[in-house]
Amino acid sequence: MNDSSNPDLRSPSGEADSDPEAQAEFSERRELLVSFLWLFIPVSIVLAGIFYAFSNQTQKYELQTALIREEAALSNASQLTSLIFVQKLSDLFVLAEGEVLRTYLHEESLKNWVRVAREFSLFARRKPKYMQIRYLDEHGVEVIRINNIGGEQEIVPRAQMQDKGGRYYFKESFQLNPGAIYISPLDLNVEKGVIEQPIRPTIRFATPVVDGYGEKRGVLIINYDPQELLQRIEDIFTARLGQAVMLNSDGYWLIGKPKEELWGFMYGREETFKDDRPDVWHAMESSDKGSFFSDDGLFVFQKTYPMDMSKQGTLENIEFSQLDSPRERQVGERHWIYLSHISKDKIEELTLKRLMVAAVTYLLLFFVTALISLFFARNSVQKKIAYRQLKQFATTDALTGLSNRRELEKVGDREFRRAERFNRELSVMMLDLDHFKEINDTHNHTMGDEVLRHVVEILAKVTRGQDILFRYGGEEFLMLLPETHEKGAKFLASRICTLVADNAYESEHVRIPVTISIGVSTIEPSDKSYHEILIRADQALYQAKRTGRNRVVVYDDSIADLPTES
Ligand code: GH3
Ligand code: MG
Ligand code: MG
Repeated sequence: MNDSSNPDLRSPSGEADSDPEAQAEFSERRELLVSFLWLFIPVSIVLAGIFYAFSNQTQKYELQTALIREEAALSNASQLTSLIFVQKLSDLFVLAEGEVLRTYLHEESLKNWVRVAREFSLFARRKPKYMQIRYLDEHGVEVIRINNIGGEQEIVPRAQMQDKGGRYYFKESFQLNPGAIYISPLDLNVEKGVIEQPIRPTIRFATPVVDGYGEKRGVLIINYDPQELLQRIEDIFTARLGQAVMLNSDGYWLIGKPKEELWGFMYGREETFKDDRPDVWHAMESSDKGSFFSDDGLFVFQKTYPMDMSKQGTLENIEFSQLDSPRERQVGERHWIYLSHISKDKIEELTLKRLMVAAVTYLLLFFVTALISLFFARNSVQKKIAYRQLKQFATTDALTGLSNRRELEKVGDREFRRAERFNRELSVMMLDLDHFKEINDTHNHTMGDEVLRHVVEILAKVTRGQDILFRYGGEEFLMLLPETHEKGAKFLASRICTLVADNAYESEHVRIPVTISIGVSTIEPSDKSYHEILIRADQALYQAKRTGRNRVVVYDDSIADLPTES
């Protein structure tokens, strides 16, 4: 029955615990580590959770921001288109309803023709984006034509007037009500059947012209060069995060692709965005603006209706051509689509930047948490150690480091009950230094202390693992010997006796021989507590003193009849 929870023997010889300080330091470190981890792990898990939530949130926020910015940009492009178109329309009305043209219609003289031509020419000089200003009569024959190329205005002579009666733009605009507007599809200028190079995108604005009697007499047509508008839209696109394209309603690219892939419909090419990304095209079909995710990122789109501005609420009071002419269908210019695509990589790149900042913050917090945890852990371990020391002070004797009498109460009781329950042996040894008073008197009290410690060293060397040594009184000791029968106890006691007698205390200056008397007793079936064994051992000790000291006496019944010391 080796009780590992024996109170410390605290052998001052330092044999049993070869390096108690190192051991204490080790266990202190271990306690510190455990305490630290108990604090640090939960806190860092919470921190990691917060960080995870934050990074998730960041991703959402980043996407949301990107989405809003792209939407705003596309909306800008759309508004810009409307704004510029509205300017063109007012110019168109100024010319169509002007007094000079009215006068000419009233009297088609050369003089009046020249006045109109001059006025148009002057107007063209102020408006370099108007490549042509023309007035066509009710048969579609050109009456006045100003070419405005490269800042030069050319009034085309009457002899060179062409018949445009068959062209779609004449037919469509002439059948409109007075005050209504026709806007042609956006395409490339064609001169004599060939696409002009470098390409010249063109839009025609047209409105019927009426004379003073309200009679429809022809149409006024402005060929507008939207290059600058397209450039500005492109600029808006390039400033954006996403890859933006401008498409016409058949899915042909107008902006946002290499030059040779733009204006495909003009060259009879088949490739369209519609075929390229049918999924994206399909997603845009049902609404005028919106956004959606696909496997490869975020798409934001906005449609604009330059040919039908009332649809956008820009010019509600003006009637627009709603014709669905074959030509218009063919070119597919009912609306334009501005589409921006932010790739997954781009989004991740954005998120990554924020995540990096978050990660650094997290690491800092992690570090701070570690420091704080360490601080608290150390605090708590120090408290524990202080408590333990306090407890040790209460249970051990300061001079010898042995357990004291208070501890004996507890341990003695425990060992007795154990022996009783399991029917085991238990012996008690009472030890008392002989003539110790004399030693004190001969030398001094301090020297007496030294001798006491010297004896304890010897005792500690002899005690076995399960034996428990107490300082019982001044120069009296008690040894509890669990699992030890009388013979064994006697043998050990004799050894102690001899050892103490043979090993005098020696220092530089003195040699103090010392002897010890020992009384031994063993548990008996009738015992009710360890006190009874202790009393018998004490009686045996007294007997040892009486019979000459420096000896061992094992209790027997004959001793019981002798008078006791106290
Ligand atoms: P005996 O052989 O009969 O035991 O003689 P003794 O002198 O040892 O016995 P006694 O009980 O008369 O005296 C014990 C002495 O031990 C008295 C006391 O001064 C001394 N003593 C008790 N505790 C200490 C201690 O902690 N240090 C020192 N130096 N002396 C102590
Ligand atoms: Mg004594
Ligand atoms: Mg004594």
